[in-house]
Amino acid sequence: METADFIVIGAGIAGASVAYELSLGGKVVVLEMESSAGYHSTGRSAAVMSENYGPALWSRLVTASRAFLETPPERFTDVPLVTSRGALFLAKSEEQAQLTEQAEELVRRGASVELTTADEALRFCPVLRASEFASAMYEQDCKDIDTDALLAGYLKALRARGGRLVTDAKVEALTHSGETWTATTPRGVFQAPIVVNAAGGWVQEIAALAGLPYRNVVPFRRTAVVFDPPVGSAIHSWPMTFDVAETFYFKPEAGRIMVSPVDMAPSDPCDAQADELEVAIAIDRIHRFTTMEVQRVTHKWGGLRTFAPDHEPVIGRDPEQPSFIWLAGQGGNGVMGGAAAARLAASFAQGAAIPADIAALGITAENVSPGRACVVDPAADAPVVGTLEAFE
Ligand SMILES: Cc1cc2nc3c(=O)[nH]c(=O)nc-3n(C[C@H](O)[C@H](O)[C@H](O)COP(=O)(O)OP(=O)(O)OC[C@H]3O[C@@H](n4cnc5c(N)ncnc54)[C@H](O)[C@@H]3O)c2cc1C
Repeated sequence: METADFIVIGAGIAGASVAYELSLGGKVVVLEMESSAGYHSTGRSAAVMSENYGPALWSRLVTASRAFLETPPERFTDVPLVTSRGALFLAKSEEQAQLTEQAEELVRRGASVELTTADEALRFCPVLRASEFASAMYEQDCKDIDTDALLAGYLKALRARGGRLVTDAKVEALTHSGETWTATTPRGVFQAPIVVNAAGGWVQEIAALAGLPYRNVVPFRRTAVVFDPPVGSAIHSWPMTFDVAETFYFKPEAGRIMVSPVDMAPSDPCDAQADELEVAIAIDRIHRFTTMEVQRVTHKWGGLRTFAPDHEPVIGRDPEQPSFIWLAGQGGNGVMGGAAAARLAASFAQGAAIPADIAALGITAENVSPGRACVVDPAADAPVVGTLEAFE
């Protein structure tokens, strides 16, 4: 039996980052069912940071995470956590008002953006079929994230502060008695007064183990495809390119092009795989919206993105059990917004005030609460249409 001040379940970016924050003030044990950290969603992302991505509260958490990613604490990492990428958002004529709204919101948050015509956007990405679009917005500060370095930095600092990651430690039972949680795993039994549920696609399963009622935070699969770029093209400087309608995105990825058809299929928590129909759709979108020809798919994968019905964060004390802290519903923002989300979750676990910079962005205990109506209502399972995360 090992005791700690905090048990964190899951060693993706959510678990590693909150463990890092909590280890400043107490002993933290992170329990991970796989043999290494980051095996599931965290290791399968497109690894970009855009302040224009995701619903309102998540995109503000991205803004609040930017300083950490750009200027991490001393000795956190030997390599930069982010490098310049730039993002291009493409709008059809009927979507131009939406694009202008996004630009205004970004400027309010201090981001640099440039609105331009689709034709002029060819200077950022020369393979676009500009005739498919009317206008474009370029977000200069979009970055590629070195997810491995970020995860490794959190876990290295955790160890240096006396915390511990235990792998091959699937939490199979989780009970609460008196003031103590007991987590039973194949690697031993662990006790602490506070549990943080950072299990990604499995968060609902962990809540069920803890005897808590259903919370509507569920996984959806997304497919990614990598192909060889046109011979001789200087792809390294191309931006991450999205359409405002959210039917595709593509970006340079280690000398090749990664594309996603931004699929969002409900899934059980699992080792997600690429869906063959979605691979075909991704290739079709490339042919339709660019002049590139996909000759050879070199790699493809699937990953889970976990959402509450409103797509906003699920961070805070469970309404029925305040010593059970949720850090969930990361959707497509978990890596880029993880640093601020972790500080927010740690404030709830420690009974502290919400960090001032996060509160200043309009984030409250209520609007991210696991007790809000759409999260506690088992019927509210449809993705919300109308957010940036919505898809055709
Ligand atoms: C194709 C794709 C592209 C994406 N692109 C981006 C992007 O560009 N930028 C971005 O910010 N985000 C992106 N995302 C989203 C991002 O990957 C997720 O938001 C983030 O990784 C979620 O992290 P997590 O720690 O919550 O989940 P995970 O990384 O899945 O971690 C959860 C962990 O919990 C563990 N676990 C589960 N059950 C148990 C148990 N019983 N006991 C112990 N451990 C358990 C799992 O093994 C897992 O390691 C993308 C996702 C996909 C699929």
